[in-house]
Amino acid sequence: MFVVSMVLFDTWFYWGHRLLHLPTFYRFHAPHHASIAPTAWSNDSSTTVDTLIEHGYHLIIWFLLPMPATAIFAQRLYDQISGMIGHAGFEYFASPTSRWPSPFICTTFHDPHHSDFRYNYRNFFSLWDRMMGTVDPKYDAMVEEMENPANTGKTATETGDGAHG
Ligand SMILES: [Zn+2]
Ligand SMILES: [Zn+2]
Repeated sequence: MFVVSMVLFDTWFYWGHRLLHLPTFYRFHAPHHASIAPTAWSNDSSTTVDTLIEHGYHLIIWFLLPMPATAIFAQRLYDQISGMIGHAGFEYFASPTSRWPSPFICTTFHDPHHSDFRYNYRNFFSLWDRMMGTVDPKYDAMVEEMENPANTGKTATETGDGAHG
């Protein structure tokens, strides 16, 4: 049920977030986007309407499926922690597990949503963004580059970093 809740909430949040980017609703989401260069605390920068739309899932799921409270609590805890990491402004998890074909992501996924509002609406999986064409076309290449900074096209000598090997 934890996995089911992860998938359902991921879907709920993607479409709620897309809704908040429509002109009618954007004023409720604008305070979240006041952070152009987010920090971990930007995750909780939100209006009441924004929170009700993006997290209303946690109010109604109890009436739709026989979810154990622990599954919903664990999923909400995962959301809180991954949300803070996803706004951290620093990449900790760049690896093949956070780029295509893996459905998982790293900080570089949602963090740039705050400087380029068109892409990367989710913060669990990249699947909805990939299916709907809202994934940043540069995302997978950026992650791959960060996995090994030596892959930037320059040799260690050219970057003046040769002494460190
Ligand atoms: Zn947004
Ligand atoms: Zn955000």
